[in-house]
Parts: sequence; C-alpha cells; structure tokens
Amino acid sequence: MPDQIDHNKVVVLTGAGISAESGLQTFRDMNGLWNAYSIDEVATPDAWERNPRLVLEFYNERRKKAVAALPNDAHKAIAALEEKYEVRVITQNVDDLHERAGSTKVIHVHGELVKARSTADPSLVYEIGGKEINLGDVCDKGSQLRPHIVWFGEEIHNHELSIDHIRTAGKVLVVGTSLTVYPAAGMVTEAHQQAEKILLSLDIEQRPYGFHCMQGKAVDLVPTIVRRWMEAGAAT
Ligand code: NAD
Repeated sequence: MPDQIDHNKVVVLTGAGISAESGLQTFRDMNGLWNAYSIDEVATPDAWERNPRLVLEFYNERRKKAVAALPNDAHKAIAALEEKYEVRVITQNVDDLHERAGSTKVIHVHGELVKARSTADPSLVYEIGGKEINLGDVCDKGSQLRPHIVWFGEEIHNHELSIDHIRTAGKVLVVGTSLTVYPAAGMVTEAHQQAEKILLSLDIEQRPYGFHCMQGKAVDLVPTIVRRWMEAGAAT
C-alpha cells in the first residue's frame, strides 16, 4: 500500500552547501576539503587503524571550525518552518548549525562532530562540545574514544527512520547537497509522488525525478521558499 501523505509535514534534507555561507567548507566544491586531505587518510576505518592521531587531528580541526561558525539565514528560515509545520531536518552535515538555529527535530545521518563514541561499545556516546579528542581519551569501559562520525564504508545512522519521514512528507526541500554520497543521496527518490519537491543548490549536479530545481545560494533561496510556504500555511 502506498504511504499516506501528510501535508502538514516538511522534510528538509541538507548537505554541506547549506553551511558554506557560515564559513564551513564543502567536501566536493572547488575549494572542497578533499582537495587538501585524502579521504583514505582521514575518513575511513582503515585510516583509523593506520594513523588514529592524524584522523583525530583532522576532526579536532573541523570541530573547532564548526563550533566557531554561526547559523546563517538558511538554517534560521528552516527552523522558522516549525511555527506552522511538523518539520524533520535530515542532514548529512556533521556540524550542529541546524540545532543552534532552533530546529528541534534534526536527524544526523553522517554523525556529529560535537560527540565522541567508544571504539569498544558504539552505544557509549558522549557530548564533547568543542573539546578535542586525543589519543588516550577513553570511554567508561577504558577503550579509546573516536569521533562520532560515519566514515566511508560505515553504515549511515537513522537510515530507515529518515526514509519513513521522506515517504510521508507533503513537502520535501533538498538544500546544498551534490547528491553524490550514498546511501544518503538515494533517499530523495523515496519522496511521495504527490509531495511538493524542491532542490536548491549552487550547482545542480543531479536532478532527481519530480523535483523542481533552483540554482543559487542557500541563504538567498531558502528564506524565499520558506516565506511562500509560511504564507500558504499547512494544507489540510
Ligand atoms: P558536497 O560537498 O558533495 O556538495 C555540496 C553541494 O552544495 C554542491 O552541490 C554545491 O554546489 C552546493 N553548494 C555550495 N555552496 C552552496 C551555497 N552557498 N548554497 C547552496 N548550495 C551550495 O556535500 P554533501 O552533498 O553534503 O556530501 C558530502 C559529505 O560532506 C557528506 O557526507 C557530509 O557529511 C559532508 N560534509 C559536511 C560538512 C558540514 O557538516 N558542514 C561540511 C563538509 C562536508
């Protein structure tokens, strides 16, 4: 049976592009992080085995930048949608700018920089804010802590939950993602046939079926879309 659409529900799927105007680099843009670091050296389980110090340094640096960044008008507009809609933000980002902008239901599929977790027991997750993780920092069971980040080759977090939300949303807004990192990128194809579906990005790299695509900066485009949706209100 097809999923029941909920016109009062908005799902916003975001990627690195939404945080670009907050000063955080995207991965794949011209100035993307991966031009300076090799994925293999810092963002895979193998890298952690080989050189945990380098991996920790890389994420300590990124955490420092992320906590110093501020939410921009796109993050804030998305948070404001909660005044009228049931909103779920599903983000590939590891920063916490959605939360700091005021969004209350944020699902992180690629992990969070402000958390650390045990290498022995993945259920042991700790809030660390802007603090570094260093070699020798251990969990309650005495094992080394690692970044609470989904590395390439690892299973993404909250996948089923995210798909359930996308399938039932009356409106789906995709912002600032190249839709190249799977399986997160594949989730957009789960949107309901009758949902209003919009993709906003600086470069439109993928045009998922049924999506209206708009090219530009998130800080300019997101507030415009949100204003329109707020004026229209939630359909019944
Ligand atoms: P990506 O770098 O592959 O794609 C970024 C997209 O955003 C591109 O399509 C680009 O055209 C667009 N973009 C750039 N500036 C923009 C702007 N000002 N407004 C609107 N769009 C803009 O990033 P991705 O698709 O999120 O996927 C790659 C991985 O990057 C993810 O796994 C994610 O975890 C990770 N990442 C997260 C952060 C963060 O947390 N802030 C930063 C870098 C990378």
